[in-house]
Amino acid sequence: MNGNGHVPAPAILVRNLDKAFIVGGQVLPVLRRVSLRIDAGQFVGVMGPSGSGKSTLLYLIGGLDKPSSGQIAVAGQRLDQMNSVDLARFRRLTVGFVFQSFHLVPTLTALENVALPGIFASQPREEREERAARLLRMLKMDDRAYHRPSQLSGGQQQRVAIARALFNEPPIIMCDEPTGALDSHTGEIVMKMLRQLCTRMGKTVIVVTHDPKIEQYADRMVLLRDGEIVDDYPTNRDVTHPDMKPIQVKTLTIERRS
Ligand code: ADP
Ligand code: MG
Repeated sequence: MNGNGHVPAPAILVRNLDKAFIVGGQVLPVLRRVSLRIDAGQFVGVMGPSGSGKSTLLYLIGGLDKPSSGQIAVAGQRLDQMNSVDLARFRRLTVGFVFQSFHLVPTLTALENVALPGIFASQPREEREERAARLLRMLKMDDRAYHRPSQLSGGQQQRVAIARALFNEPPIIMCDEPTGALDSHTGEIVMKMLRQLCTRMGKTVIVVTHDPKIEQYADRMVLLRDGEIVDDYPTNRDVTHPDMKPIQVKTLTIERRS
């Protein structure tokens, strides 16, 4: 964070990352010597067979877990050297997470779910709900603000989860199978929205997925197998498509409070 209260543009740098779990007294290597660089503002799709280590990699670069060895630098911060208090602060300011199963609080409305990070930051109710309302409007969910998760479709719930992920204005959005619980049409709407966060708001977006359609939205694909990166290539995404075109950033940027 610099003096103006802005988080500097992130570049993710992973070097010789190893992660092993101990299961029943046995060492289970899950990631092996993974090295990766992701530039700020890039949209990266991560694919690979089930069990290849995609979620583990995402959780490590999101500061949700610690590596066995190797270096992880995100937005200039060395996660591998942080204690759990620093990691919690890093996650709060730098990363928004979106999961397959939405993880919304069932007893809260869409608006309250989006505003939840503001409760943890002790923001006044009016302020956090106004901000949540703006985010819901941005994701075309303002007409569902007072619905509870059970009253929303899967795609709508995921849009609420995306709005919540944006609440603290993190520069990086990390998604683990965000369309895994959605039909393919709804999944495409969600992927398109994630693309727009990248194109219109300059977010760095990382999406772990089984859906090959991600190639139409990502700038780059990283393929994992057995805990190793086996391919890494730029996509041929159609940048002239109207959904991919940047619009006026001004209408969507939300000013950061100090
Ligand atoms: P993917 O997301 O690609 O399906 P994961 O990263 O979830 O793969 O898991 C990779 C491997 O690591 C799997 O063999 C899984 O069983 C193992 N694994 C993941 N998390 C743990 C854990 N907390 N403890 C033990 N093994 C784990
Ligand atoms: Mg997974």
